Order: sequence, then structure tokens, then C-alpha cells
Amino acid sequence: MLRHGAVVIVGAGQAGLQTAVSLRSAGFERSVVLIGAEPGLPYEHPPLSKALLAGTAQPKDVALRPESYFDSHEVELLAGERVVAVERDMRRVLLESGAAVRYEHLVLATGAVNRRLECPGCELDGVLSLRTLAQALELRERLLDAERVAIVGAGFIGLEVAAVARAMGKQVDVFELAELPMGRVVSEPTARFFARAHRREGVHLHFNSGVRRIVGDGGRARAVETSDGDTVLADVVLVAIGIVPDDELAAVAGLPVAGGVRVDQRLLTPDPAISAIGDCARFPSPFADRPVILESVQNACDQGRAVAARVSGDDRAYTAVPWFWSDQGQLRLQIAGLTVGAQDAVVIGDPEQGRFSALCFAGGRLLGVESVGRPGDHVAARKLLARRASLSPEQARRADFDLKAYARAA
Ligand SMILES: Cc1cc2nc3c(=O)[nH]c(=O)nc-3n(C[C@H](O)[C@H](O)[C@H](O)COP(=O)(O)OP(=O)(O)OC[C@H]3O[C@@H](n4cnc5c(N)ncnc54)[C@H](O)[C@@H]3O)c2cc1C
Repeated sequence: MLRHGAVVIVGAGQAGLQTAVSLRSAGFERSVVLIGAEPGLPYEHPPLSKALLAGTAQPKDVALRPESYFDSHEVELLAGERVVAVERDMRRVLLESGAAVRYEHLVLATGAVNRRLECPGCELDGVLSLRTLAQALELRERLLDAERVAIVGAGFIGLEVAAVARAMGKQVDVFELAELPMGRVVSEPTARFFARAHRREGVHLHFNSGVRRIVGDGGRARAVETSDGDTVLADVVLVAIGIVPDDELAAVAGLPVAGGVRVDQRLLTPDPAISAIGDCARFPSPFADRPVILESVQNACDQGRAVAARVSGDDRAYTAVPWFWSDQGQLRLQIAGLTVGAQDAVVIGDPEQGRFSALCFAGGRLLGVESVGRPGDHVAARKLLARRASLSPEQARRADFDLKAYARAA
């Protein structure tokens, strides 16, 4: 059967679903087809490493819209259907099931896949990854039975899972090649604060430490062997070493990819009938000096909204302020802006009390603000960044500096 969508969206995750929702709320009346490789309703990812893993949320709680939404808003959801090719000359996509769907505008929202750990033993039973709902449910089951958990990678997801596993009473060892956690994306004061906090909770953090091999017994993971030659027992090994954008469909269709589908400021590929958004798209951001991929709910949703607005006739560059959050145990980290590459971080508040903000600068310019326990600072930082207001490290260092008051006056 040959279907047709005025807008066809490939990938029914956060960005794809948001595009469909925003099209309908903008009054777009033509056909919208949302195609997702995973079965079931589109769902959100953040609870997968937090409440769902802890058992305080259930799968039904993570659905982004109830089933009734798709009928009532005439969004045709093709769940459990993988797109295997984009035929640009025919303006249609081909599904694994053999069907084809014609499009007038195509939105690629294929997300990302987890980076694989390449070492002996990585195929053993009990070596897990966390991206999808199915993987989160498996991880939860395994955690319930485990005594010892090894986590490879001290990024956001690794640390969120570490906090949940500790709260479940497990022994938790985290192995990280760098000398600090979340080193790729947060400033040193924030990274050190979180390292102390996790250690206080009893998480064993191993920095400058890679995993050389996973040791098995009867086909099951039993331990990890580190690059230092230590052996640490583990019943479950979670590999959390980042993502790889899923840009394969675009690459095969002859669109430019470079660690993600390349799009312009309007989130368009060089083919004016194809946009790309979310974790799969590399775009020029006014907040970065080179094209970036931003792995966040904010970016996925705001880019979905932006494409829906363009298709509905409101065509403008995507310039949203990036923001992000991560819940690690009782601590919530909020980041406004992109703080990668900061040369200077001015800390206000009191890290000892678990309430502080690190204001991150490069070349005397505010790049972003990382806040723990100070949501008012986070909101103020988003305002300042949106207005491109100037703030110098010297101003931020003054004893009476108040970020919220400064943003109100800016
Ligand atoms: C465990 C976890 C916790 C997170 N926590 C946070 C957080 O606390 N805060 C935050 O801001 N961000 C968080 N994120 C990141 C955030 O969820 C992602 O940035 C966001 O979901 C990206 O949305 P997306 O639509 O681009 O990708 P996804 O939501 O991954 O959706 C992509 C979808 O496309 C489908 N797909 C791929 N290829 C095809 C194909 N060929 N045909 C059909 N369908 C296809 C995939 O199956 C997938 O369902 C977290 C991510 C994870 C995995």
C-alpha cells in the first residue's frame, strides 16, 4: 500500500512526536505520518535512568501522549515500523515491512544509538546498555537481582544509574577514562562537587581507569578487569560511554553527514524537502563556535517546534538557548547555555550546602551557568543568555553579586 503524508516524520521519539504535536497545535490541517521503529506509544527518556529504574514510575507513566491523542488529532502513528530507505527522487520512504510512504516534507528524527564498548567479554550476558524503554526495563530487572554493579562511563546517564543503584543498596563501581566525571560537558567545580557527592553516598568512582576486559563465567559477566590490571566483581555491567547519532538513512540517501545529519540554521538539509532534528542533527548554534549535536529534551522539543512552525509558514532560524538537567540521587543539576570550553568558572552560593551555581566564561564572555539547588539562578541564566546580556567574571566575583537581580535589571 502506498501511503501519503504532507509531513512524514521518521523517528517517534521526543523530537518526532513534538513535531507532530506542534503541527497540530499550529493549526496544520494536512496529513501527518509519524513512523517509529519501536513498538508502542512514543515515550520520554529521562525517567528511564531515574524514576522508572528506581521503580517509582511505570512504563505507562513515560508515554508522551495517550493512544487516544493520535486518533483525535489525526496523527497517523506507524509504531514498530522501521524506515529502511529514503528515495529522494520519488519523495518517499520505504519501510522494512515493504510498504512505502510518500512525503511532501520529510523530518528525520532518528535519534542516536549508544556507543559500543569494544573489549573482550562485551558480548557476555549481563553487559547492558541504556537507551530504550525495553533496555531500561531489563536493567531494572537485572539490578533487582544483582549485588554488585559496574558502570563504564561517568557521564550523566552513568551517574544517574549509579545513584539509583546505590539507593537500592547495591555495591556500585564506576570506571571513567577521564580524571573527573561529566568532564566533557561541565566545569571543574561542578564535576568535583558531583564526584564528592557520589563518593559520600558510597559509590566507588575509579578515574583514569578504562575497562580492558569483562570476565565471564558460564557466559555471564562476573567482573571487569581495568586498564590498571585490577579485577572488580560485578553481576551487571552497564556501558554508558555516550552516543552515536543515527545518521545512516541520511548518509545512504546522499545527504551530508558529519557525526550527525548536517542541517542549516533553519534545520534544513541541502534538500529543501528534508529537515533533521534532535539527537541525529548537527546544526549551527549561536551558542557554539562550530556545528553541534545537543542531546537534550529541550533541544529535541524546541527543534520539533521550530520545524513545525516553518512547515506552517513561520520560517526563522533556530536560536533557542540550550538548557539541560540531570537528577543524580537527591541532587538536580541544571545547565543553561553550553559551558564546554569554559576557561574560567566563578562559583556563587555554597557547594558545601549543595546549593551553588558555577558561572562559566571564555574570553570574558558568559558561556553558561551550572546550578545545583538554585533553580532561580538557572531561570535567570536562561534569560541573560537569551538577551545576550553581557556579564564579566569580575562582576560575578563581587561579594554582593546576585544573578537573579542582575538578570532582572539586564
Ligand atoms: C536514559 C536517558 C536519560 C536521559 N535523561 C535526560 C535528562 O535528564 N535531561 C535531558 O534533557 N535529556 C535527557 N536525555 C536525552 C534526551 O532524552 C534525548 O536528547 C532526546 O530523547 C532526543 O530525542 P530524539 O527524538 O532526537 O531521539 P529519540 O527520543 O531517541 O527518538 C528517536 C527514535 O527514532 C527511532 N528510529 C531510529 N531510526 C529509525 C528508522 N529508521 N525508522 C523508524 N524509526 C527510527 C528510534 O527507534 C527512536 O525511538 C536522556 C536520554 C536517555 C537515553
